[in-house]
Amino acid sequence: MTASAEEGLTVAVAKGRILDEAIPLLGDIGIRAREDPLRTRKLILEADVAPGWPPVRLVLLRAQDVPTYLEYGAADAGIAGRDVLLEYPGEEWYEPLDLGIARCRLVVAAREDDPRAQATAPGSVRVATKFERIARRHFAKSGVRAEIVKLYGSMELAPLVGLADRIVDLVATGNTLRANGLRAVEDIADVSARLIVNKASMKMKASVVKEFVAKLRERVEASR
Ligand code: AMP
Repeated sequence: MTASAEEGLTVAVAKGRILDEAIPLLGDIGIRAREDPLRTRKLILEADVAPGWPPVRLVLLRAQDVPTYLEYGAADAGIAGRDVLLEYPGEEWYEPLDLGIARCRLVVAAREDDPRAQATAPGSVRVATKFERIARRHFAKSGVRAEIVKLYGSMELAPLVGLADRIVDLVATGNTLRANGLRAVEDIADVSARLIVNKASMKMKASVVKEFVAKLRERVEASR
């Protein structure tokens, strides 16, 4: 049975920085996980809710899986980074709210000592990234021939060992780039965590989903 057919609200949350910053936001609107997500190994957390809310449960996922749960109706709502949503091949959800948390940038980076990094017409480049689709779109738009090398982590290593000329990665403070002798050479997108909503849930559970979005919007706007 899908989440849409069940009672209550199932919210898929990306583990890591997004979960850490989303827990206080949800707490402020009256949804408190019964167990500390940092201490438990459970993947489904029931929440204590303020009067007026139906039962709410949080499902904790790898960021890249949040859109899939939404698309298949296994969650009514989800919280994931814009990077993950841009990379996902589809848009089978509504995206009603920028939560303004887990902010960072998606950039192209190169070695600090790369003389071609500033060139406007660099010919062809090899780009290491886990954001294959985003990188492909970005370089196609800039008219640069790019060979994309798919990696699953530690992208910063690739230019240092000659695997790639560029990386496409997330940057927050810039410390990781600096520590590895790299620098951002192009911005691709500003990134923050977004609330997404399953389209069927928006119809079938309209009042609770709308209330959830409205409460979160109020909370987010209050902290702007
Ligand atoms: P920083 O050193 O602060 O620039 O952080 C860069 C490292 O943290 C890179 O490995 C990024 O992939 C990762 N990172 C930064 N911000 C985020 C975020 N909002 N979500 C996931 N990973 C991030």
